[in-house]
Amino acid sequence: MRYKAATMHNWRFTNAVRTGFVALILATCPVVVAQQAAGAAETGRVDPRIAEALKQFSAERVQQTIEKLVSFGNRSTISPQDEASIKAGKGVGAARDWIKSEFERYSKDCGGCLDVKVDSFIEQPQDRIKTPTQITNVYAALRGSNPAQANRIVLVTGHYDSRNSDTFNGTDPAPGANDDGSGTAVSLECARVLSKYKFPATIIFLTVAGEEQGLNGSKHFAEVAKQQGWKIEAVLNNDIVGGDRNPEQDASVVRVFSEGIPNAATDVDIKRIRGLGGESDSSSRELARYIADVGRTYDAGVKPLLVFRLDRFLRGGDHLSFNRQGFAAVRFTEFREDYNHQHQDIRTENGIEYGDLPKFVNYDYIAHVAALNGATLASLASAPAPPANVKMVTKNLENDTTLTWDASPAASAYEVVYRTTSAPDWEHVQTVTSGTRATLKVSKDNVIFAVRAVDAAGHRSLPVVPEPER
Ligand SMILES: [Zn+2]
Repeated sequence: MRYKAATMHNWRFTNAVRTGFVALILATCPVVVAQQAAGAAETGRVDPRIAEALKQFSAERVQQTIEKLVSFGNRSTISPQDEASIKAGKGVGAARDWIKSEFERYSKDCGGCLDVKVDSFIEQPQDRIKTPTQITNVYAALRGSNPAQANRIVLVTGHYDSRNSDTFNGTDPAPGANDDGSGTAVSLECARVLSKYKFPATIIFLTVAGEEQGLNGSKHFAEVAKQQGWKIEAVLNNDIVGGDRNPEQDASVVRVFSEGIPNAATDVDIKRIRGLGGESDSSSRELARYIADVGRTYDAGVKPLLVFRLDRFLRGGDHLSFNRQGFAAVRFTEFREDYNHQHQDIRTENGIEYGDLPKFVNYDYIAHVAALNGATLASLASAPAPPANVKMVTKNLENDTTLTWDASPAASAYEVVYRTTSAPDWEHVQTVTSGTRATLKVSKDNVIFAVRAVDAAGHRSLPVVPEPER
């Protein structure tokens, strides 16, 4: 089935009205000072600074980045990375050094605002790596301007390694314009544009290698982040966001994949999820809904189309590495992929052109996807931390619902959002301007609740689903 985000939105609104659910919000509560009609939970307030930033995402810059990446010939993780190859501008080592120099150039333009780093390690032989191989992730951190918020991290990533028909071919052309020159370009373009601004929380612009050999780079990065206790609130993985120019393409949408039952869930977690009906409320799913909200608030030129599953059939990606470590992570991918233009040797057979070449990608589309990522990163990094310790009182059998949470330091208010259990996205919002407790005349049995923190400018945190408290 083919449908667009706008259609989904209308469907959701109509569906909420049709079920008569609107009647429930007529209930009142002393601490709740504002209520919005069904559907209004979805649209945030525009930050003029973010709207201005979005205009700077450039298709020309994206094109330059992708053409440069393609010029390295073969960026397979097992391609040469010796000094001679780097000097000749060929192989994954040359790509790595160029990406680093690009981040450094952006940093120079903002007075050294980016902390440019590499995460390099030796991967031992395994399925798709025959000899010990150095894998290097390259990243730039835009440190949060508020010392109390700077340990909060939001992250965008793409993989700069590429492949052709043979996973073990590190020499013949593997242009990887779409897979994943496009995602690498998104990370770089977000860094170039957002480094001109300051945000309270930290943004990391990451590019990883080893994806095609088994998610090796992202696995290492996510494991180190977990071990070091990094507070990563959101990971945006962009992989195949080139908007391949096939006739079935829909350049008005980008798919956003999110896991349901978390990959990091323990048996105890799964038992709780089963009991609560929490199958569609992983932190990654809440992140996907947040992106839908951003897509309605800002005009990035492309709308997110949420897909409620981890990934496409038979395929995987770097967001899984982060999911496995318990981080909220989603995958952006173009609407319609052309498999003749991925993981293929460049050739023509029976009149069909194969290969992941620049001529098949749509630079305007990639710039739009980058802008949607940028708006999401900027919104999250501007927002207060999500409320911690969110609880739902379930001591007694009662039809009201009481929620409590810990104060979020930068919040000026909180919003309780909720939806019917069968609805895909939040339908109702109630604002709480004082205190960290709310009682709603809505039965916890019939809806799913979450609480988010909001600052004076209207920046919203990710919503947090309450734990039952007996
Ligand atoms: Zn890929």
